[in-house]
Amino acid sequence: MPAGDEGVLTISIGVRVSPEPAGIELLRRYNVALNYAINKILSLNLKNIKDVHRELYRELREWFGLPSRIALDCYRDALANTNAWRNNPRRGRRPRVKKLSMLLHPGSGYRVKEGYVEIIGGIKLRIIGRNKRYDQYENGEARLVYRGDRMMLWISKKVPKLKPYKPRDTIAVDINERKVVYGDDKINKEIDTKIDEAHRWKKLAESLQKRYSSPRYTAWRRRKAILNRIRSYHRKARNILEDWARKTSLEIVRLAKKLGYAVAREDLTGLINSLRKIKNKDHRTRLIIMGYSRLRRWIDWQAMKHRVPLAIINPNGTSSECPKCGSKLEENGYRRLKCPRCGFEADKDIVGKLNIRRRALKILGISGEFWPPSLPPRCQM
Ligand SMILES: [Zn+2]
Repeated sequence: MPAGDEGVLTISIGVRVSPEPAGIELLRRYNVALNYAINKILSLNLKNIKDVHRELYRELREWFGLPSRIALDCYRDALANTNAWRNNPRRGRRPRVKKLSMLLHPGSGYRVKEGYVEIIGGIKLRIIGRNKRYDQYENGEARLVYRGDRMMLWISKKVPKLKPYKPRDTIAVDINERKVVYGDDKINKEIDTKIDEAHRWKKLAESLQKRYSSPRYTAWRRRKAILNRIRSYHRKARNILEDWARKTSLEIVRLAKKLGYAVAREDLTGLINSLRKIKNKDHRTRLIIMGYSRLRRWIDWQAMKHRVPLAIINPNGTSSECPKCGSKLEENGYRRLKCPRCGFEADKDIVGKLNIRRRALKILGISGEFWPPSLPPRCQM
């Protein structure tokens, strides 16, 4: 959340436009200019925007033929890229931007008209598809991106946050590498993770890599095609997890909103960090880290966007404590746990959810009915 901007949310709205040759040409020129600017900023070790302007503005205008407003945005973009690289403790070679992406200033850089977007320099891009839901809010800075054969204009907008509400209860979310279990003490829903599906694509990529790393396959054209295929498999694995995290989080947050509940998730920081520390991680571990971090980010984002109260719960003991009396649970058959003190018994996955809910209700100041309602008869008091 941007500081000092409470009550406002910055969102990004995608507008799909026709990839006109003039637009692609400008993006290519911008990209060359951007990489030139990044190199110069690093070579001269420029730090502030005034120095960057003095060294680059005229060159970007005259050598690369960028319109005045685009030249300003181009060196700003370059400075942001270099600063991100400078601040990265694990930085490698100098950054080089490959993606065709251009920063555009509202008004002087681009305008959204009826049916088309006008880019500075009189370039008109026909609008193919867009979301009109946020039309009443002012257009902010935008990015024109060309990738594959799709051209998108991503417009940032400041949208007021919805009014928060006082939750009646909470949807608790328990995450493991096989599935996500969520609900309250009565509702129990499950969504399988896509770790295995993503893993299959990673394995495919790996076996291709192995098969074609032999010296027999040096013909560059064929190698390029294979490389592209390998890359697309890696991308596929990533997209599967991203898509899953987005949809899962939306379902959870929508359910909470419908019921007037909060959402409670575990604090996954410790778990993710310990996984990250593993040396020579295999693909599966990497995918688990990716899945957890994306789900975390998406739940928080959806909760904020829909103004659903969010509780982040310390995960210590959530899978081993009795949700009713707090004693240590004992194994009782396959994936089942039982409390030696009060007789509570349940599935491992449900125990996590119930404990997260119990802790969340405490944090949120809601007095709830902690008694799990669906106990086997012999455990009831
Ligand atoms: Zn107990």
